[in-house]
Amino acid sequence: MATSIKAVEDSLDKLMDSAFDDAEILLAFDYRAGNQAVKLFEAMKSEALKLLGKTLTPADAVRVRSLLSNGNKLISLVDRQLPGINRRARAGVGIHDRLLKEDQKVLLKMEKAIPANKKAMQEAAKELVAAGGQDAGKLSLTVNGEQITSSDKVITVDYRATSAIDEPTVEILLRGPEGMPVRIEYGETAESKANNWDKDRMNKKVIKIGTDKEEVPREELSELVQEGSKSKARGSLEANLPGWNYEWKVAFQTRGLSAAYAFKVAIGERSPILFTLDMTFTAHGFERIPYKCDQYNGYGQEEASWGQPALRTFLKNFGEQHIKETNGKKPWVGNKGLQDGVKYGKHDGVSHMRGRGVDIRIWPRCTTKLISNADYNVEEHVKQIKSYFDNGAIYVATSSTPAASQCINLGLRVEERSKHISHDHVTIK
Ligand SMILES: [Zn+2]
Repeated sequence: MATSIKAVEDSLDKLMDSAFDDAEILLAFDYRAGNQAVKLFEAMKSEALKLLGKTLTPADAVRVRSLLSNGNKLISLVDRQLPGINRRARAGVGIHDRLLKEDQKVLLKMEKAIPANKKAMQEAAKELVAAGGQDAGKLSLTVNGEQITSSDKVITVDYRATSAIDEPTVEILLRGPEGMPVRIEYGETAESKANNWDKDRMNKKVIKIGTDKEEVPREELSELVQEGSKSKARGSLEANLPGWNYEWKVAFQTRGLSAAYAFKVAIGERSPILFTLDMTFTAHGFERIPYKCDQYNGYGQEEASWGQPALRTFLKNFGEQHIKETNGKKPWVGNKGLQDGVKYGKHDGVSHMRGRGVDIRIWPRCTTKLISNADYNVEEHVKQIKSYFDNGAIYVATSSTPAASQCINLGLRVEERSKHISHDHVTIK
């Protein structure tokens, strides 16, 4: 569908006026930067003149892109010079001969004009992308094989990691008109930071094959990789698209983070954001398991309430049996797994990571909270351990020596582990 540029001629005017002002200001303060700015403005002008008062053709779409690309370069140039301009304006020093005669008021006025020019250019560019230039604003975006349409502004990609030791990769493919400048930025969202990192106990231990205890610094955990050129960037990546027939491939790698990431895809450096992707990493097959429910009470971290569906079933059935055997006492169920299946805090057992491990308090069935207490009741504790196995447990760790030896005599796979002074660690099949 052909679009008339008439509708956005005002925007085009504003864009060109602001670009002209910026070029003049740069020329006044820095001859070299000013010359660059004038060249950019001249290139913009020649494209802009060809666009005026007509119906856009596919060839004009290329002009709009080129115009916006040069506009972005001009904004970048001004941004780089801005600290120097501010200094000189305040000191009343112009570089260009014409301005040596001007007073400081003029310099300060120019300094003040820059942010307004930038805003005007960005707004004009936004309107041009939205209304004009046919496919100038069009991008095709595919994330992990799923086509994302430009009308979707927020997309949640549920990445199902095959296992926690993998480094999950999200593949992003972009297509668009040849030469379209695009930029991808990513960052952990504020919500995810609050949930995952601001609590010391939830610091992640990232497991890599062969290095069970490795901890990777947070900033090393994710990267955006452009395939082919093998260039890597932290936080952002930009390129000119090779054309509709070719894909620009970008891989986003993360090492086991349940964090949510926000991705922004935009044309050029400062143009409007066309796509925002929120990505959450979920370990393969993991489901949310109730933190507390009719069958049990909850303790520990609410975030650590993920795991295999079999773990949910185990907890429901174990809870029912516990309530029945104790005349209505609900058991206390603690940490299960994290959404992305990585190790966390003091939990260095792999079953939590696999979504098959859970911590369960010996209290209230034992009436005491600690195995070291005088009123610790080994018979009740052994009954509780037996009920784990009745419902599908295959391994239990406890810090009670007598309970462990009694259970072993019963043929149950129970080990003494001194760390579990108030709870049993239970692993299911
Ligand atoms: Zn445990």
